Amino acid sequence: MQTAQSQPESGCHSVVFLGAGPGDPELITLKGRRLLDEADVIVYAGSLVNVALLDGVKAACHDSASLDLEGIMALLAEGYKQGKKVVRLHTGDPAIYGAIREQMQWLDARQIPYEVIPGVSSAFASAAALQVELTVPEVTQTVIFTRQAGRTPVPERESLQKLAAIQASMCIFLSVSLIETVVNDLIAGGYAPETPIAVVEKASWPDQQIVRGRLNTIAALIQESAIRKTAMIVVGPALGEDSTIASKLYDAAFSHEYR
Ligand code: SAH
Repeated sequence: MQTAQSQPESGCHSVVFLGAGPGDPELITLKGRRLLDEADVIVYAGSLVNVALLDGVKAACHDSASLDLEGIMALLAEGYKQGKKVVRLHTGDPAIYGAIREQMQWLDARQIPYEVIPGVSSAFASAAALQVELTVPEVTQTVIFTRQAGRTPVPERESLQKLAAIQASMCIFLSVSLIETVVNDLIAGGYAPETPIAVVEKASWPDQQIVRGRLNTIAALIQESAIRKTAMIVVGPALGEDSTIASKLYDAAFSHEYR
């Protein structure tokens, strides 16, 4: 990782890694919207970014779906050296399964400066779609972002089965095609088979779909649905309606400092 951030050469602009949000073009930050409008070159992750975000931009836009790391970085570096404003547009928040680390290291090695602008992760868009609070007092105060091991391995100490023992809220990315394995691991790890679980496909898109169930029903429900990818699995006791414990935050006796 970089120690000191390099400064842009004169006439050049830092490359911007930008969070596009989960899909709805209004769910990008104001700063992100401005940077897209001012950009000369945009390299976007076409498999998930909503291209409606690119309507009306003046930039040359490149879909990175078919490019490897070198191909992507060549576009970013070339634009930078030509003094262009370059945006690398990632779905959701770039820090979560964005593969930005290798891109930043590539830029570090060439002293090309960059900045990162956060975005609304699909985890939060999914929670919003489900209208749940992931941190319910006295139920759980912890949220885990994770995934089932697939082509990308997951370290054994953080297997779903191990994480399940914590009984927190979990947002499971990149795993809906493996829903049966997910369910088996979660139950083997300690979640009760009746634990509420939901799958949100394309959260915040016009064709968003929600399937709600319990650990022992969800795999069949997903099988019956058309949901195969771009979906978030949200699971944990916080999704249950049976919790009657209210937050002390709005309790009359609680200090108002954090409201
Ligand atoms: N950086 C992104 C995640 C990229 S990994 C973020 O913060 O959201 C891609 C995975 O994210 C998908 O497999 C899916 O699990 C999830 N995902 C991305 N967009 C989504 C959306 N609109 N609705 C539900 N899940 C989504």
